[in-house]
Amino acid sequence: MIRATVWAEPLGQMSAHPALRALQEAERARIFTHYPEGIHRVICDGLVHELGAEGSVSTTTLDDCEQGLAPEVLAATDVLVWWSHGRNDELSDEAAERVVRCVRERGMGLIVLHSGIESKPFRQLMGTSCQTERWRHGDDYEAVWTVAPSHAISEGIAPVFVIPHEEMWCEFIDIPVPDDLVFISSFAGGEICRSGCCFRRGKGRIFYFRPGHEAHATFHQAEVRRILANAVRWAYTPAPSPAHFADRWEGKQGSLGWFQREAID
Ligand code: ZN
Repeated sequence: MIRATVWAEPLGQMSAHPALRALQEAERARIFTHYPEGIHRVICDGLVHELGAEGSVSTTTLDDCEQGLAPEVLAATDVLVWWSHGRNDELSDEAAERVVRCVRERGMGLIVLHSGIESKPFRQLMGTSCQTERWRHGDDYEAVWTVAPSHAISEGIAPVFVIPHEEMWCEFIDIPVPDDLVFISSFAGGEICRSGCCFRRGKGRIFYFRPGHEAHATFHQAEVRRILANAVRWAYTPAPSPAHFADRWEGKQGSLGWFQREAID
Protein backbone atom coordinates (compact mmCIF):
# COMPACT_ATOMS: atom_id res chain seq x y z
CA MET A 1 0.00 0.00 0.00
CA ILE A 2 1.27 3.46 -0.93
CA ARG A 3 1.40 5.88 2.00
CA ALA A 4 0.72 9.33 0.52
CA THR A 5 0.81 12.53 2.55
CA VAL A 6 -0.76 15.73 1.23
CA TRP A 7 1.06 18.79 2.61
CA ALA A 8 -0.31 22.29 2.02
CA GLU A 9 -0.47 25.84 3.21
CA PRO A 10 -3.78 26.18 5.05
CA LEU A 11 -5.84 28.72 3.12
CA GLY A 12 -7.13 30.50 6.18
CA GLN A 13 -3.93 32.53 6.39
CA MET A 14 -2.98 34.87 3.63
CA SER A 15 0.50 35.59 2.33
CA ALA A 16 2.68 38.21 3.99
CA HIS A 17 3.73 39.38 0.53
CA PRO A 18 1.71 42.58 -0.19
CA ALA A 19 0.89 41.82 -3.83
CA LEU A 20 -0.05 38.21 -3.14
CA ARG A 21 -2.01 39.20 -0.07
CA ALA A 22 -4.08 41.72 -2.06
CA LEU A 23 -4.75 39.10 -4.71
CA GLN A 24 -5.74 36.45 -2.21
CA GLU A 25 -8.04 38.83 -0.36
CA ALA A 26 -9.75 39.77 -3.63
CA GLU A 27 -10.20 36.08 -4.43
CA ARG A 28 -11.13 35.02 -0.92
CA ALA A 29 -14.78 34.28 -1.68
CA ARG A 30 -13.87 31.97 -4.56
CA ILE A 31 -11.11 30.28 -2.59
CA PHE A 32 -13.47 29.35 0.21
CA THR A 33 -16.23 28.33 -2.18
CA HIS A 34 -13.98 25.76 -3.80
CA TYR A 35 -11.90 24.78 -0.75
CA PRO A 36 -13.85 25.52 2.43
CA GLU A 37 -11.77 23.11 4.51
CA GLY A 38 -8.48 23.81 2.76
CA ILE A 39 -7.06 22.74 -0.57
CA HIS A 40 -5.32 19.73 1.02
CA ARG A 41 -8.70 18.20 1.90
CA VAL A 42 -9.89 18.24 -1.71
CA ILE A 43 -6.58 16.89 -3.03
CA CYS A 44 -6.71 14.16 -0.36
CA ASP A 45 -10.33 13.26 -1.21
CA GLY A 46 -9.40 12.92 -4.89
CA LEU A 47 -6.50 10.59 -4.09
CA VAL A 48 -8.60 8.49 -1.72
CA HIS A 49 -11.24 8.10 -4.43
CA GLU A 50 -8.77 7.28 -7.21
CA LEU A 51 -6.32 5.07 -5.31
CA GLY A 52 -8.88 3.09 -3.31
CA ALA A 53 -7.27 0.17 -1.52
CA GLU A 54 -3.93 0.92 -3.23
CA GLY A 55 -3.27 3.93 -1.04
CA SER A 56 -3.46 5.32 2.46
CA VAL A 57 -3.72 9.12 2.29
CA SER A 58 -3.25 11.62 5.11
CA THR A 59 -2.89 15.40 5.31
CA THR A 60 -0.61 17.83 7.09
CA THR A 61 -0.09 21.59 6.84
CA LEU A 62 2.43 24.36 7.27
CA ASP A 63 0.75 25.34 10.52
CA ASP A 64 1.08 21.89 12.11
CA CYS A 65 3.84 20.80 14.51
CA GLU A 66 7.29 21.19 12.91
CA GLN A 67 5.51 22.79 9.93
CA GLY A 68 3.83 19.48 9.19
CA LEU A 69 7.13 17.90 8.18
CA ALA A 70 8.37 16.26 11.38
CA PRO A 71 10.82 13.38 10.82
CA GLU A 72 8.21 10.83 11.91
CA VAL A 73 5.69 12.23 9.41
CA LEU A 74 8.18 11.96 6.57
CA ALA A 75 9.31 8.50 7.72
CA ALA A 76 5.72 7.33 7.29
CA THR A 77 5.41 8.88 3.81
CA ASP A 78 6.14 7.08 0.53
CA VAL A 79 4.95 9.97 -1.64
CA LEU A 80 4.60 13.58 -0.50
CA VAL A 81 2.10 15.76 -2.42
CA TRP A 82 2.95 19.46 -2.06
CA TRP A 83 0.76 22.56 -2.58
CA SER A 84 2.03 25.98 -1.55
CA HIS A 85 1.60 29.47 -2.89
CA GLY A 86 1.97 32.63 -0.86
CA ARG A 87 3.94 31.39 2.12
CA ASN A 88 6.84 29.57 0.51
CA ASP A 89 9.36 31.70 2.41
CA GLU A 90 7.94 30.68 5.80
CA LEU A 91 9.18 27.12 5.46
CA SER A 92 12.26 26.61 7.61
CA ASP A 93 15.50 25.60 5.96
CA GLU A 94 15.60 22.56 8.27
CA ALA A 95 12.19 21.30 7.14
CA ALA A 96 13.10 21.87 3.48
CA GLU A 97 16.34 19.96 3.95
CA ARG A 98 14.49 17.02 5.52
CA VAL A 99 12.23 16.79 2.47
CA VAL A 100 15.16 16.99 0.05
CA ARG A 101 17.07 14.28 1.90
CA CYS A 102 14.06 11.98 2.00
CA VAL A 103 13.72 12.31 -1.78
CA ARG A 104 17.39 11.92 -2.63
CA GLU A 105 18.50 9.38 -0.05
CA ARG A 106 15.41 7.33 0.70
CA GLY A 107 13.51 7.57 -2.57
CA MET A 108 10.44 9.33 -1.22
CA GLY A 109 8.28 10.44 -4.15
CA LEU A 110 7.42 14.13 -4.44
CA ILE A 111 4.48 15.62 -6.37
CA VAL A 112 4.73 19.41 -6.54
CA LEU A 113 1.68 21.43 -7.54
CA HIS A 114 1.32 24.91 -9.03
CA SER A 115 3.25 27.58 -7.06
CA GLY A 116 4.97 24.87 -5.08
CA ILE A 117 7.41 25.27 -7.97
CA GLU A 118 8.94 28.12 -5.93
CA SER A 119 9.09 26.16 -2.68
CA LYS A 120 12.45 25.63 -1.03
CA PRO A 121 12.57 21.84 -1.44
CA PHE A 122 11.70 21.96 -5.15
CA ARG A 123 14.17 24.75 -5.91
CA GLN A 124 16.91 22.85 -4.07
CA LEU A 125 16.16 19.67 -5.96
CA MET A 126 16.10 21.48 -9.31
CA GLY A 127 19.06 23.81 -8.70
CA THR A 128 17.38 26.66 -10.62
CA SER A 129 15.22 29.67 -9.69
CA CYS A 130 12.00 27.93 -10.83
CA GLN A 131 10.45 31.31 -11.59
CA THR A 132 8.21 32.25 -14.48
CA GLU A 133 8.59 35.54 -16.30
CA ARG A 134 4.90 36.19 -17.06
CA TRP A 135 1.59 35.30 -15.45
CA ARG A 136 -1.97 36.59 -15.57
CA HIS A 137 -4.82 36.38 -13.08
CA GLY A 138 -8.27 36.22 -14.51
CA ASP A 139 -10.47 33.66 -16.11
CA ASP A 140 -8.20 32.12 -18.68
CA TYR A 141 -8.92 28.60 -19.76
CA GLU A 142 -6.03 26.11 -19.73
CA ALA A 143 -5.87 23.37 -22.36
CA VAL A 144 -3.68 20.52 -21.14
CA TRP A 145 -2.11 18.54 -23.97
CA THR A 146 -0.71 15.04 -23.51
CA VAL A 147 2.68 14.84 -25.18
CA ALA A 148 3.68 11.45 -23.72
CA PRO A 149 0.67 9.18 -24.32
CA SER A 150 2.53 6.04 -23.26
CA HIS A 151 3.66 7.49 -19.92
CA ALA A 152 2.19 6.05 -16.68
CA ILE A 153 1.07 9.53 -15.59
CA SER A 154 -1.05 10.12 -18.71
CA GLU A 155 -2.83 6.76 -18.51
CA GLY A 156 -6.57 7.28 -19.03
CA ILE A 157 -6.13 10.96 -19.94
CA ALA A 158 -7.47 12.33 -23.26
CA PRO A 159 -5.08 13.81 -25.85
CA VAL A 160 -6.26 17.24 -24.68
CA PHE A 161 -8.61 18.39 -21.91
CA VAL A 162 -9.64 21.85 -20.77
CA ILE A 163 -9.58 23.35 -17.29
CA PRO A 164 -12.26 26.05 -17.69
CA HIS A 165 -10.70 28.61 -15.36
CA GLU A 166 -7.03 28.85 -14.42
CA GLU A 167 -4.23 31.32 -13.80
CA MET A 168 -1.96 31.75 -16.84
CA TRP A 169 1.79 31.18 -16.69
CA CYS A 170 4.01 30.94 -19.72
CA GLU A 171 7.51 30.13 -20.77
CA PHE A 172 10.20 30.69 -20.04
CA ILE A 173 9.90 28.90 -16.70
CA ASP A 174 13.35 28.42 -15.20
CA ILE A 175 13.40 24.69 -14.54
CA PRO A 176 15.89 22.11 -15.81
CA VAL A 177 15.01 20.08 -18.88
CA PRO A 178 12.65 17.41 -17.50
CA ASP A 179 13.57 13.73 -17.68
CA ASP A 180 10.05 13.15 -19.06
CA LEU A 181 7.71 15.84 -20.35
CA VAL A 182 4.17 14.48 -20.04
CA PHE A 183 1.92 17.55 -20.54
CA ILE A 184 2.13 21.02 -22.03
CA SER A 185 -0.55 23.68 -21.62
CA SER A 186 -1.93 26.47 -23.78
CA PHE A 187 -4.00 29.41 -22.56
CA ALA A 188 -6.65 31.80 -23.86
CA GLY A 189 -4.03 34.32 -24.98
CA GLY A 190 -2.06 31.73 -26.97
CA GLU A 191 0.64 31.34 -24.33
CA ILE A 192 2.17 27.93 -23.67
CA CYS A 193 4.12 26.28 -20.88
CA ARG A 194 5.39 22.90 -19.78
CA SER A 195 2.80 21.69 -17.29
CA GLY A 196 3.62 18.06 -16.43
CA CYS A 197 7.30 17.33 -15.84
CA CYS A 198 9.11 14.33 -14.36
CA PHE A 199 12.51 14.50 -12.70
CA ARG A 200 14.73 11.96 -10.99
CA ARG A 201 16.97 13.09 -8.15
CA GLY A 202 19.07 10.60 -6.20
CA LYS A 203 16.80 7.64 -5.40
CA GLY A 204 13.61 9.69 -5.74
CA ARG A 205 11.10 10.54 -8.42
CA ILE A 206 9.55 14.00 -8.69
CA PHE A 207 6.53 15.12 -10.73
CA TYR A 208 5.67 18.78 -11.22
CA PHE A 209 2.08 19.68 -12.26
CA ARG A 210 1.42 23.32 -13.10
CA PRO A 211 -2.38 23.83 -12.64
CA GLY A 212 -3.88 24.41 -9.22
CA HIS A 213 -4.46 28.10 -8.46
CA GLU A 214 -6.48 28.27 -5.25
CA ALA A 215 -9.26 30.50 -6.61
CA HIS A 216 -10.25 27.90 -9.21
CA ALA A 217 -11.92 24.51 -8.90
CA THR A 218 -9.04 22.66 -10.58
CA PHE A 219 -8.60 19.97 -7.91
CA HIS A 220 -12.27 19.00 -8.22
CA GLN A 221 -11.82 18.14 -11.89
CA ALA A 222 -11.84 14.42 -12.78
CA GLU A 223 -8.85 14.55 -15.16
CA VAL A 224 -6.71 16.35 -12.60
CA ARG A 225 -7.60 13.82 -9.92
CA ARG A 226 -6.67 10.98 -12.25
CA ILE A 227 -3.34 12.61 -13.12
CA LEU A 228 -2.43 13.11 -9.45
CA ALA A 229 -3.24 9.49 -8.59
CA ASN A 230 -1.24 8.28 -11.60
CA ALA A 231 1.64 10.49 -10.45
CA VAL A 232 1.55 9.07 -6.92
CA ARG A 233 1.74 5.55 -8.34
CA TRP A 234 4.62 6.53 -10.64
CA ALA A 235 6.58 8.30 -7.90
CA TYR A 236 6.24 5.40 -5.48
CA THR A 237 9.52 3.54 -5.32
CA PRO A 238 9.33 0.88 -2.63
CA ALA A 239 12.58 0.15 -0.83
CA PRO A 240 14.44 -2.74 -2.48
CA SER A 241 14.49 -5.92 -0.51
CA PRO A 242 16.54 -7.65 0.60
CA ALA A 243 19.08 -4.87 1.18
CA HIS A 244 21.74 -7.44 0.44
CA PHE A 245 24.63 -5.02 0.02
CA ALA A 246 24.06 -2.13 2.37
CA ASP A 247 23.14 -4.03 5.52
CA ARG A 248 26.33 -6.05 5.70
CA TRP A 249 28.75 -3.71 4.04
CA GLU A 250 30.33 -1.70 6.78
CA GLY A 251 33.04 0.03 4.78
CA LYS A 252 32.43 2.20 1.76
CA GLN A 253 35.43 0.88 -0.17
CA GLY A 254 34.91 -1.86 -2.68
CA SER A 255 37.76 -4.35 -2.68
CA LEU A 256 38.26 -6.38 -5.83
CA GLY A 257 35.32 -8.73 -6.32
CA TRP A 258 33.34 -7.42 -3.32
CA PHE A 259 29.97 -7.67 -5.03
CA GLN A 260 30.52 -11.28 -5.98
CA ARG A 261 31.27 -12.22 -2.40
CA GLU A 262 28.21 -10.34 -1.19
CA ALA A 263 25.99 -12.02 -3.74
CA ILE A 264 27.33 -15.50 -2.80
CA ASP A 265 26.80 -14.86 0.92
ZN1 ZN B 1 -1.66 30.76 -8.53
